[in-house]
Amino acid sequence: MNIALWLERIARARPDAPALFLGREMLADYAGLDRRARAVAGWLQEQGVRPGDRVALFMGNAPEYLTALYGIWYAGAAAVPINAKLHGAEAAWIIANAEARLVLADPDHRAALAAEGVSALPVAEAAPVTTIAARAPGDLAWLFYTSGTTGRPKGVMITHRMLMAMSLSYLADVDAVTAEDATLYAAPMSHGAGLYALVHVLRGARHVCPESGGFDEGEILDLAQHHGRLHLFAAPTMVRRLTAHARAKGARGEGLRSITYGGGPMYEADIRDAVDWFGPVFIQIYGQGEAPMAITALSRDEVADRSHPDWRARLGSVGRAQSVVEIRIADAQGRDLAEGEVGEILVRGDLVMPGYWQNPEATASALRDGWLWTGDLGRMDSDGYLTLCDRSKDMIISGGTNIYPREVEEVLLSHPEVIEAAVVGAPDPDWGEVVVAFVAGTATAEALDAHCRAHIARFKRPKRYIAVESLPRNNYGKVLKTALRARLAPDQDAETSDSTR
Ligand code: AMP
Repeated sequence: MNIALWLERIARARPDAPALFLGREMLADYAGLDRRARAVAGWLQEQGVRPGDRVALFMGNAPEYLTALYGIWYAGAAAVPINAKLHGAEAAWIIANAEARLVLADPDHRAALAAEGVSALPVAEAAPVTTIAARAPGDLAWLFYTSGTTGRPKGVMITHRMLMAMSLSYLADVDAVTAEDATLYAAPMSHGAGLYALVHVLRGARHVCPESGGFDEGEILDLAQHHGRLHLFAAPTMVRRLTAHARAKGARGEGLRSITYGGGPMYEADIRDAVDWFGPVFIQIYGQGEAPMAITALSRDEVADRSHPDWRARLGSVGRAQSVVEIRIADAQGRDLAEGEVGEILVRGDLVMPGYWQNPEATASALRDGWLWTGDLGRMDSDGYLTLCDRSKDMIISGGTNIYPREVEEVLLSHPEVIEAAVVGAPDPDWGEVVVAFVAGTATAEALDAHCRAHIARFKRPKRYIAVESLPRNNYGKVLKTALRARLAPDQDAETSDSTR
């Protein structure tokens, strides 16, 4: 089944229900949203897009994101949403890897792609399609590029079946969505936030794009008050910033119904503070591109109910398995570990990807014996609550966005005056982690910063550079990142030179 049939159905049942907003302004009811998606699909067909083709989206959050996404699905194609913060060269690589038939982009992103010799078009409409292309559950719906440990991103194949499992599980395990609710796209629609569109379409709720196109604390509080019953997804950094802002303004978050948080570790003090201020509106989810949104959830009661004897321990967990998955904790050989023991988190079920796009080696290492090896380390307690301990991957999560050190290291190493470079994450109260680079060579921090700006997305740039004679390595020549992290203790940073951010 084509997941976009949910839009056609709700548009028939409740054509006049408000559907799409830019800020406070309504742009379309459900009949209108359905019509626009059909018109985008009609135009895509005119451009030669056929079922099974990939259509890339390289643009910031905007109402057109939703019409484009559903237009792509109505035409039977798969969407390739690209993080709008990526450098044009990075986006061009993804477009080529996905073998996208067409690229849809806003003016800024068209210019960034043009500089790389890639042409893109604005989202357009033509004669609407009358029928929605049939899709099988295992067909590709969304190609989701995650940064790769190999330095190149990998395309997670997200199927219609996965999106269905994810959305139904949301209703069963995370939150009850009704037609009276609204969801706000304050986080990137190319990533987590876009996935929330589906369950809100299913329930005929309202979709609100902020005029800022992103995360603006004042705007969120204003839109919550205006629209009422508002939901948003927020990375832990955003929760912290929203709470601080609301406290400073004395705003209690009127109209905020639910905030799902996840995508990175939440500090206990931050979530306690957030609940103190806004009340029981927070729900935690744990997922990854390879098993989106729905591995575990910690309900709003579990987050907020301090009278429960296990409240504290559970607050530090990511909750219990959602209905559509099985979870195991295993050692490196895949053997089950006992309760409380730390091992890799393995997941199985309809939520799990069939593999990475045209990448059999990466697929074989992530999917073994029918289980997804998440790369996350954790332990399960006797009540079934899962606590994440660490990531077995080297990934840095800054502001809820994943950054793979290898990608940054490769760019630094391409500078002629760099001899060696290693990148680690340093704890940061605002961003969760920030990128710090240890570099041997004669390049200045300013030169390296300029070099990074020319090659990778701004958010991946090191915030600090630390000059070293050479990198510490073990007997096998592997860089000892633990030793580097230890050097980041506050009294050890005499050699630090800050780069501008
Ligand atoms: P992505 O594939 O970009 O969605 O990143 C997924 C990764 O983010 C997971 O593998 C975890 O390492 C991390 N993550 C996701 N949700 C949580 C959470 N609730 N708490 C801690 N880390 C999380």
